[in-house]
Amino acid sequence: MALRVSNLASGYGRLQVLFGVSFEAPSGSVVSILGPNGAGKTTTLLTVMGVVKPWDGVVELEGVDVTWLPPHRKVELGISLVPEGRRLFPEMTVEENLLMGAYTKRARDKIHDSLELVYTLFPRLKERRKQKAGTMSGGEQQMLAVARALMARPKVLLIDEPSAGLAPKVVADLFQTISQLKKEMSVLLVEQNVAAALEISDYSYVLENGRIILKGPASELVENEHVKKAYLGV
Ligand code: ATP
Repeated sequence: MALRVSNLASGYGRLQVLFGVSFEAPSGSVVSILGPNGAGKTTTLLTVMGVVKPWDGVVELEGVDVTWLPPHRKVELGISLVPEGRRLFPEMTVEENLLMGAYTKRARDKIHDSLELVYTLFPRLKERRKQKAGTMSGGEQQMLAVARALMARPKVLLIDEPSAGLAPKVVADLFQTISQLKKEMSVLLVEQNVAAALEISDYSYVLENGRIILKGPASELVENEHVKKAYLGV
């Protein structure tokens, strides 16, 4: 199993946000965590990454307990995060942003190969490699955020709300590319856009109030009554 999370609890100060969250993300698949605003989806990714300290529970990468490692160690070992809001360096060019993603020793050794790889996946970024990141469209900036995370050569890629603020057509294109990534790694996607996420997911979890309330193959969740009513407007 690429990523296994068991009974994760965490929060901010005295506010507990996650209450025993468990899920798995095997390589070769897209797994999504879906849920409403404030459910704790971002907190889940930040806790897996170690940006938010876990209170309890276990995070395993390929069977190795990494729960207490700091974020930079997790990146070295193969977990990368595409954060909510993209967090690009707007004054730097596309290519400079990409190079910033390859800061670990393991990634630096493969930097040329990695650039070629992300430019093949996102030809638009190659065309625009000298352009300042802050002047690109929302969709292009999201592509760049994903591409930058790939430069670290992750085994597990965590993506937070990539569809936010993007037009449906742009979301469809971006998600097609995201679904290709699973050939090389495990992709864990957090989304409020439940319909779009279910389309590319192999397996999904529904998070509400810091607890997983539902899980299953995406093809089954699409048919689930609660999912239809609460998230698909059916
Ligand atoms: P959204 O899609 O709106 O980002 P989410 O499911 O990702 O929702 P989180 O961002 O994980 O939800 O937030 C879960 C809860 O934790 C919310 O009640 C939020 O107000 C709270 N929270 C998030 N970040 C912090 C913080 N830095 N300090 C205090 N509380 C926070």
